[in-house]
Amino acid sequence: MQQLNALIAEAKNLAQPSAAVIEVQRVLQICNACRYCEGFCATFQSMTRRLDFNSADIHYMANLCHNCGACLHACQYAPPNEFGVNIPQSMAKVRLETYQTYAWPAKMGVLYKKNAIALTLLTSSAIILFLFTLVMWSGSLFNTNLDGNFYAIFPHNSLAQLFGLVFVTMIIALGIGVTNFWRSISTDPLAAGAALDATKDVLTLKNLGGGHQQGCNEADDAFSLWRRHFHHMTFYGFMLCFAATSVATLFHYFLGWEAPYSYTSLPVLLGTLGGIGLVIGPIGLLYLNLRRHELHGDHGQKPMDLGFIASLLAISISGLALLAFRETAYMAIILCLHLGFVMGFFLMMPYGKFAHGIYRSAALLKNAIEVRMGKTVSVGAD
Ligand code: SF4
Ligand code: SF4
Repeated sequence: MQQLNALIAEAKNLAQPSAAVIEVQRVLQICNACRYCEGFCATFQSMTRRLDFNSADIHYMANLCHNCGACLHACQYAPPNEFGVNIPQSMAKVRLETYQTYAWPAKMGVLYKKNAIALTLLTSSAIILFLFTLVMWSGSLFNTNLDGNFYAIFPHNSLAQLFGLVFVTMIIALGIGVTNFWRSISTDPLAAGAALDATKDVLTLKNLGGGHQQGCNEADDAFSLWRRHFHHMTFYGFMLCFAATSVATLFHYFLGWEAPYSYTSLPVLLGTLGGIGLVIGPIGLLYLNLRRHELHGDHGQKPMDLGFIASLLAISISGLALLAFRETAYMAIILCLHLGFVMGFFLMMPYGKFAHGIYRSAALLKNAIEVRMGKTVSVGAD
Protein backbone atom coordinates (compact mmCIF):
# COMPACT_ATOMS: atom_id res chain seq x y z
CA MET A 1 0.00 0.00 0.00
CA GLN A 2 2.82 2.37 0.90
CA GLN A 3 4.52 1.70 -2.42
CA LEU A 4 1.24 2.26 -4.27
CA ASN A 5 0.82 5.63 -2.54
CA ALA A 6 4.36 6.55 -3.50
CA LEU A 7 3.72 5.66 -7.13
CA ILE A 8 0.48 7.68 -7.14
CA ALA A 9 2.31 10.67 -5.65
CA GLU A 10 5.05 10.24 -8.25
CA ALA A 11 2.48 10.05 -11.08
CA LYS A 12 0.79 13.22 -9.81
CA ASN A 13 4.11 14.95 -9.54
CA LEU A 14 5.05 14.07 -13.12
CA ALA A 15 1.57 14.88 -14.44
CA GLN A 16 1.72 18.39 -13.00
CA PRO A 17 5.09 19.82 -13.90
CA SER A 18 6.75 21.79 -11.13
CA ALA A 19 8.14 25.30 -11.60
CA ALA A 20 11.63 23.78 -11.88
CA VAL A 21 10.52 21.39 -14.66
CA ILE A 22 8.69 24.18 -16.53
CA GLU A 23 11.82 26.32 -16.38
CA VAL A 24 13.93 23.52 -17.91
CA GLN A 25 11.29 23.02 -20.60
CA ARG A 26 11.52 26.74 -21.38
CA VAL A 27 15.31 26.91 -21.63
CA LEU A 28 15.53 23.66 -23.61
CA GLN A 29 13.20 25.09 -26.25
CA ILE A 30 15.68 27.95 -26.64
CA CYS A 31 18.64 25.54 -26.67
CA ASN A 32 16.98 23.29 -29.22
CA ALA A 33 16.69 26.26 -31.57
CA CYS A 34 20.21 27.48 -30.84
CA ARG A 35 22.13 24.18 -30.57
CA TYR A 36 25.48 25.87 -30.07
CA CYS A 37 26.26 23.42 -27.23
CA GLU A 38 24.97 20.26 -28.90
CA GLY A 39 28.36 18.55 -28.85
CA PHE A 40 29.15 19.48 -25.25
CA CYS A 41 27.71 16.54 -23.33
CA ALA A 42 25.14 13.75 -23.19
CA THR A 43 22.47 16.20 -21.94
CA PHE A 44 22.58 18.22 -25.14
CA GLN A 45 22.84 15.12 -27.30
CA SER A 46 19.68 13.74 -25.68
CA MET A 47 18.03 17.13 -26.25
CA THR A 48 18.71 16.95 -30.00
CA ARG A 49 16.94 13.57 -30.12
CA ARG A 50 13.69 15.20 -28.95
CA LEU A 51 11.15 17.59 -30.40
CA ASP A 52 9.50 18.35 -27.07
CA PHE A 53 10.15 17.46 -23.43
CA ASN A 54 7.75 15.84 -21.02
CA SER A 55 8.37 15.73 -17.26
CA ALA A 56 10.04 12.32 -17.39
CA ASP A 57 12.41 13.56 -20.12
CA ILE A 58 13.32 16.56 -18.01
CA HIS A 59 14.10 14.41 -14.96
CA TYR A 60 16.19 12.09 -17.13
CA MET A 61 18.13 14.94 -18.76
CA ALA A 62 18.61 16.74 -15.44
CA ASN A 63 20.35 13.63 -14.10
CA LEU A 64 22.49 13.39 -17.21
CA CYS A 65 23.82 16.89 -16.51
CA HIS A 66 27.09 16.73 -14.53
CA ASN A 67 26.96 20.46 -13.69
CA CYS A 68 30.28 21.15 -15.43
CA GLY A 69 29.25 24.74 -16.17
CA ALA A 70 30.57 24.73 -19.76
CA CYS A 71 27.21 25.58 -21.36
CA LEU A 72 26.65 28.50 -18.98
CA HIS A 73 30.00 30.07 -19.81
CA ALA A 74 29.51 29.49 -23.56
CA CYS A 75 25.95 30.85 -23.67
CA GLN A 76 25.11 34.17 -25.24
CA TYR A 77 21.66 33.99 -23.63
CA ALA A 78 22.89 33.43 -20.06
CA PRO A 79 22.04 36.01 -17.38
CA PRO A 80 22.01 39.00 -17.53
CA ASN A 81 20.55 38.39 -21.03
CA GLU A 82 16.76 38.69 -20.92
CA PHE A 83 16.34 35.00 -21.89
CA GLY A 84 18.19 34.08 -18.69
CA VAL A 85 19.31 30.64 -19.90
CA ASN A 86 21.13 28.89 -17.04
CA ILE A 87 21.15 25.18 -17.82
CA PRO A 88 23.36 23.95 -14.92
CA GLN A 89 21.27 25.75 -12.30
CA SER A 90 17.91 24.78 -13.81
CA MET A 91 18.98 21.14 -14.10
CA ALA A 92 20.28 21.09 -10.52
CA LYS A 93 16.88 22.21 -9.20
CA VAL A 94 15.14 19.41 -11.09
CA ARG A 95 17.67 16.86 -9.81
CA LEU A 96 16.71 17.70 -6.23
CA GLU A 97 13.08 17.09 -7.18
CA THR A 98 14.07 13.73 -8.70
CA TYR A 99 15.63 12.58 -5.43
CA GLN A 100 12.61 13.73 -3.43
CA THR A 101 10.01 12.34 -5.84
CA TYR A 102 11.48 8.86 -6.06
CA ALA A 103 12.78 8.49 -2.50
CA TRP A 104 11.66 5.33 -0.77
CA PRO A 105 9.87 5.33 1.60
CA ALA A 106 8.25 8.41 0.04
CA LYS A 107 8.08 10.40 3.30
CA MET A 108 11.85 10.21 3.65
CA GLY A 109 12.24 12.36 0.50
CA VAL A 110 11.87 15.39 2.74
CA LEU A 111 15.36 14.66 4.14
CA TYR A 112 16.90 15.94 0.92
CA LYS A 113 15.46 19.36 1.76
CA LYS A 114 16.64 19.40 5.35
CA ASN A 115 20.04 20.63 6.36
CA ALA A 116 22.14 17.59 5.54
CA ILE A 117 25.14 18.78 7.56
CA ALA A 118 23.09 18.90 10.74
CA LEU A 119 21.42 15.59 9.94
CA THR A 120 24.71 13.81 9.24
CA LEU A 121 26.35 15.24 12.35
CA LEU A 122 23.33 14.47 14.52
CA THR A 123 23.14 10.90 13.30
CA SER A 124 26.86 10.31 13.69
CA SER A 125 26.95 11.97 17.12
CA ALA A 126 24.10 9.84 18.44
CA ILE A 127 25.85 6.67 17.30
CA ILE A 128 29.24 7.77 18.65
CA LEU A 129 27.65 8.52 22.01
CA PHE A 130 26.01 5.12 22.06
CA LEU A 131 29.26 3.32 21.21
CA PHE A 132 31.19 5.33 23.81
CA THR A 133 28.69 4.28 26.43
CA LEU A 134 29.12 0.66 25.43
CA VAL A 135 32.91 0.88 25.56
CA MET A 136 32.96 2.64 28.92
CA TRP A 137 30.51 0.15 30.29
CA SER A 138 32.70 -2.73 29.14
CA GLY A 139 35.83 -1.09 30.61
CA SER A 140 37.84 -1.05 27.34
CA LEU A 141 38.35 2.71 27.06
CA PHE A 142 42.09 3.56 27.33
CA ASN A 143 42.95 -0.13 27.60
CA THR A 144 46.55 -0.46 26.34
CA ASN A 145 46.59 -4.25 26.14
CA LEU A 146 44.46 -4.73 23.06
CA ASP A 147 47.35 -5.04 20.51
CA GLY A 148 45.39 -3.17 17.83
CA ASN A 149 42.57 -5.70 17.95
CA PHE A 150 39.30 -3.84 17.29
CA TYR A 151 37.31 -6.96 17.91
CA ALA A 152 38.47 -7.12 21.52
CA ILE A 153 36.20 -4.07 21.94
CA PHE A 154 33.32 -4.87 19.60
CA PRO A 155 32.98 -8.55 18.60
CA HIS A 156 33.47 -9.12 14.86
CA ASN A 157 30.15 -10.88 14.32
CA SER A 158 28.16 -8.15 16.09
CA LEU A 159 29.82 -5.43 14.01
CA ALA A 160 29.44 -7.36 10.74
CA GLN A 161 25.76 -8.10 11.41
CA LEU A 162 24.83 -4.58 12.55
CA PHE A 163 26.68 -2.71 9.79
CA GLY A 164 25.81 -5.31 7.15
CA LEU A 165 22.10 -5.08 8.00
CA VAL A 166 22.03 -1.26 7.88
CA PHE A 167 24.09 -1.14 4.66
CA VAL A 168 21.89 -3.68 2.85
CA THR A 169 18.68 -1.97 4.06
CA MET A 170 19.86 1.41 2.81
CA ILE A 171 20.98 -0.05 -0.53
CA ILE A 172 17.54 -1.64 -0.94
CA ALA A 173 15.83 1.70 -0.15
CA LEU A 174 18.01 3.48 -2.70
CA GLY A 175 17.53 0.65 -5.22
CA ILE A 176 13.72 0.90 -4.99
CA GLY A 177 13.88 4.67 -5.55
CA VAL A 178 16.16 4.36 -8.58
CA THR A 179 14.06 1.50 -10.00
CA ASN A 180 10.96 3.71 -9.84
CA PHE A 181 12.93 6.50 -11.52
CA TRP A 182 14.06 4.08 -14.22
CA ARG A 183 10.51 2.89 -14.89
CA SER A 184 9.35 6.45 -15.41
CA ILE A 185 12.14 7.44 -17.82
CA SER A 186 12.63 4.31 -19.87
CA THR A 187 10.53 1.71 -21.63
CA ASP A 188 13.44 0.52 -23.78
CA PRO A 189 14.88 -2.99 -23.52
CA LEU A 190 18.19 -3.22 -21.72
CA ALA A 191 21.16 -4.34 -23.83
CA ALA A 192 24.57 -5.55 -22.63
CA GLY A 193 26.37 -3.21 -25.05
CA ALA A 194 24.55 -0.16 -23.67
CA ALA A 195 25.35 -1.26 -20.12
CA LEU A 196 29.04 -1.41 -21.06
CA ASP A 197 28.89 2.07 -22.66
CA ALA A 198 27.22 3.49 -19.56
CA THR A 199 29.72 1.80 -17.24
CA LYS A 200 32.54 3.40 -19.21
CA ASP A 201 30.87 6.82 -18.93
CA VAL A 202 30.48 6.36 -15.18
CA LEU A 203 34.04 5.15 -14.61
CA THR A 204 35.66 7.86 -16.76
CA LEU A 205 33.25 10.67 -15.83
CA LYS A 206 33.39 11.67 -19.46
CA ASN A 207 30.63 14.26 -19.01
CA LEU A 208 32.71 16.14 -16.45
CA GLY A 209 35.09 16.94 -19.30
CA GLY A 210 33.24 20.11 -20.26
CA GLY A 211 32.50 21.14 -23.82
CA HIS A 212 35.71 19.88 -25.45
CA GLN A 213 37.13 17.58 -22.77
CA GLN A 214 39.20 20.51 -21.48
CA GLY A 215 37.41 20.36 -18.16
CA CYS A 216 34.81 22.25 -16.14
CA ASN A 217 34.36 25.93 -15.61
CA GLU A 218 34.68 26.59 -11.91
CA ALA A 219 34.96 30.18 -10.71
CA ASP A 220 35.29 31.80 -14.15
CA ASP A 221 35.64 31.14 -17.90
CA ALA A 222 38.89 29.17 -17.44
CA PHE A 223 38.72 25.38 -17.97
CA SER A 224 39.97 22.95 -15.37
CA LEU A 225 40.04 19.17 -15.07
CA TRP A 226 40.52 19.32 -11.31
CA ARG A 227 36.88 18.60 -10.45
CA ARG A 228 37.02 15.47 -12.56
CA HIS A 229 40.32 14.41 -10.93
CA PHE A 230 38.96 15.04 -7.41
CA HIS A 231 35.77 13.14 -8.26
CA HIS A 232 37.89 10.24 -9.46
CA MET A 233 39.98 10.23 -6.28
CA THR A 234 36.81 10.27 -4.18
CA PHE A 235 35.07 7.55 -6.17
CA TYR A 236 38.04 5.20 -6.47
CA GLY A 237 39.06 5.94 -2.87
CA PHE A 238 35.59 4.87 -1.77
CA MET A 239 35.75 1.73 -3.92
CA LEU A 240 39.17 0.79 -2.52
CA CYS A 241 37.87 1.17 1.05
CA PHE A 242 34.90 -1.00 0.11
CA ALA A 243 37.29 -3.56 -1.41
CA ALA A 244 39.42 -3.51 1.77
CA THR A 245 36.37 -4.31 3.91
CA SER A 246 35.25 -7.04 1.50
CA VAL A 247 38.69 -8.68 1.42
CA ALA A 248 38.93 -8.55 5.23
CA THR A 249 35.49 -10.20 5.44
CA LEU A 250 36.64 -12.97 3.07
CA PHE A 251 39.82 -13.45 5.10
CA HIS A 252 37.81 -13.72 8.30
CA TYR A 253 34.99 -16.00 7.21
CA PHE A 254 36.57 -18.13 4.45
CA LEU A 255 40.26 -18.32 5.35
CA GLY A 256 39.94 -17.98 9.10
CA TRP A 257 42.53 -15.15 9.14
CA GLU A 258 41.48 -12.76 11.86
CA ALA A 259 42.31 -9.07 12.30
CA PRO A 260 44.43 -7.16 13.13
CA TYR A 261 46.20 -7.49 9.76
CA SER A 262 49.78 -6.37 9.18
CA TYR A 263 50.54 -3.03 7.49
CA THR A 264 51.58 -4.89 4.33
CA SER A 265 48.47 -7.10 4.12
CA LEU A 266 45.99 -6.67 1.28
CA PRO A 267 43.08 -5.22 3.34
CA VAL A 268 45.35 -2.66 5.03
CA LEU A 269 47.05 -1.64 1.76
CA LEU A 270 43.69 -1.25 -0.01
CA GLY A 271 42.22 0.64 2.94
CA THR A 272 45.23 2.96 3.23
CA LEU A 273 45.24 3.82 -0.47
CA GLY A 274 41.45 4.27 -0.44
CA GLY A 275 41.63 6.40 2.70
CA ILE A 276 44.25 8.69 1.14
CA GLY A 277 42.07 9.07 -1.98
CA LEU A 278 39.09 9.81 0.26
CA VAL A 279 41.03 12.58 1.98
CA ILE A 280 42.50 14.27 -1.11
CA GLY A 281 39.35 13.96 -3.28
CA PRO A 282 36.82 15.48 -0.84
CA ILE A 283 39.25 18.25 0.25
CA GLY A 284 39.68 19.19 -3.42
CA LEU A 285 35.93 19.07 -4.04
CA LEU A 286 35.35 21.20 -0.94
CA TYR A 287 37.83 23.79 -2.18
CA LEU A 288 36.21 23.90 -5.64
CA ASN A 289 32.70 23.93 -4.18
CA LEU A 290 33.46 27.00 -2.04
CA ARG A 291 34.97 28.82 -5.05
CA ARG A 292 32.30 28.01 -7.64
CA HIS A 293 30.73 30.69 -9.78
CA GLU A 294 27.55 31.98 -8.13
CA LEU A 295 25.42 31.07 -11.16
CA HIS A 296 26.46 27.38 -11.06
CA GLY A 297 24.18 24.83 -9.48
CA ASP A 298 21.48 25.35 -6.88
CA HIS A 299 22.62 27.21 -3.77
CA GLY A 300 19.86 25.57 -1.74
CA GLN A 301 21.71 22.27 -2.14
CA LYS A 302 25.03 23.49 -0.72
CA PRO A 303 24.31 22.08 2.76
CA MET A 304 23.65 18.66 1.21
CA ASP A 305 26.88 18.86 -0.83
CA LEU A 306 28.96 20.04 2.11
CA GLY A 307 27.37 17.50 4.47
CA PHE A 308 28.36 14.69 2.11
CA ILE A 309 31.93 15.97 1.76
CA ALA A 310 32.24 16.41 5.55
CA SER A 311 30.93 12.89 6.09
CA LEU A 312 33.46 11.36 3.67
CA LEU A 313 36.31 13.31 5.26
CA ALA A 314 35.27 12.29 8.76
CA ILE A 315 35.29 8.62 7.70
CA SER A 316 38.63 8.72 5.89
CA ILE A 317 40.51 10.79 8.47
CA SER A 318 39.21 8.72 11.40
CA GLY A 319 39.98 5.51 9.45
CA LEU A 320 43.59 6.52 8.79
CA ALA A 321 43.96 7.70 12.40
CA LEU A 322 42.65 4.33 13.57
CA LEU A 323 45.38 2.60 11.58
CA ALA A 324 48.09 4.96 12.84
CA PHE A 325 47.04 4.76 16.51
CA ARG A 326 45.67 1.23 16.68
CA GLU A 327 48.34 0.09 19.12
CA THR A 328 47.90 3.01 21.51
CA ALA A 329 45.51 3.81 24.35
CA TYR A 330 43.45 5.98 21.96
CA MET A 331 42.34 3.08 19.78
CA ALA A 332 38.93 2.58 21.42
CA ILE A 333 38.01 6.27 21.18
CA ILE A 334 39.07 6.53 17.53
CA LEU A 335 37.26 3.29 16.72
CA CYS A 336 34.03 4.69 18.22
CA LEU A 337 34.40 7.86 16.16
CA HIS A 338 35.12 5.94 12.96
CA LEU A 339 32.24 3.50 13.40
CA GLY A 340 29.88 6.37 14.24
CA PHE A 341 30.85 8.27 11.09
CA VAL A 342 30.48 5.15 8.94
CA MET A 343 27.05 4.37 10.42
CA GLY A 344 25.93 8.00 9.93
CA PHE A 345 27.05 7.76 6.28
CA PHE A 346 25.20 4.47 5.73
CA LEU A 347 21.97 5.85 7.20
CA MET A 348 22.08 8.89 4.93
CA MET A 349 23.00 7.03 1.71
CA PRO A 350 19.49 6.97 0.17
CA TYR A 351 18.59 10.48 1.42
CA GLY A 352 21.66 12.60 0.68
CA LYS A 353 24.22 13.43 -1.96
CA PHE A 354 25.41 9.82 -2.31
CA ALA A 355 22.21 9.14 -4.30
CA HIS A 356 23.29 11.48 -7.12
CA GLY A 357 25.84 8.95 -8.38
CA ILE A 358 23.21 6.19 -8.65
CA TYR A 359 20.54 8.34 -10.34
CA ARG A 360 23.16 9.72 -12.72
CA SER A 361 24.32 6.19 -13.59
CA ALA A 362 20.70 5.26 -14.44
CA ALA A 363 20.40 8.34 -16.68
CA LEU A 364 23.69 7.43 -18.40
CA LEU A 365 22.36 3.93 -19.03
CA LYS A 366 19.19 5.34 -20.59
CA ASN A 367 21.35 7.65 -22.73
CA ALA A 368 23.55 4.74 -23.88
CA ILE A 369 20.43 2.79 -24.90
CA GLU A 370 19.11 5.77 -26.86
CA VAL A 371 22.43 6.30 -28.62
CA ARG A 372 22.58 2.64 -29.68
CA MET A 373 18.96 2.70 -30.87
CA GLY A 374 19.49 5.97 -32.76
CA LYS A 375 16.36 7.43 -31.19
CA THR A 376 15.03 10.71 -32.52
CA VAL A 377 12.03 11.40 -30.28
CA SER A 378 11.01 10.96 -26.66
CA VAL A 379 9.63 7.68 -25.41
CA GLY A 380 9.76 8.45 -21.69
CA ALA A 381 6.57 7.86 -19.73
CA ASP A 382 4.36 10.96 -19.39
S1 SF4 B 1 23.08 26.95 -23.42
FE1 SF4 B 1 22.93 28.85 -24.62
S2 SF4 B 1 24.49 28.64 -26.21
FE2 SF4 B 1 24.14 26.62 -25.38
S3 SF4 B 1 22.59 25.69 -26.72
FE3 SF4 B 1 21.50 26.66 -24.98
S4 SF4 B 1 20.98 28.69 -25.70
FE4 SF4 B 1 22.56 27.91 -27.08
S1 SF4 C 1 26.50 22.01 -17.25
FE1 SF4 C 1 27.90 20.71 -18.42
S2 SF4 C 1 27.03 18.65 -18.19
FE2 SF4 C 1 25.40 20.11 -17.65
S3 SF4 C 1 24.29 20.46 -19.52
FE3 SF4 C 1 25.86 22.06 -19.39
S4 SF4 C 1 27.60 21.25 -20.56
FE4 SF4 C 1 26.24 19.54 -20.10
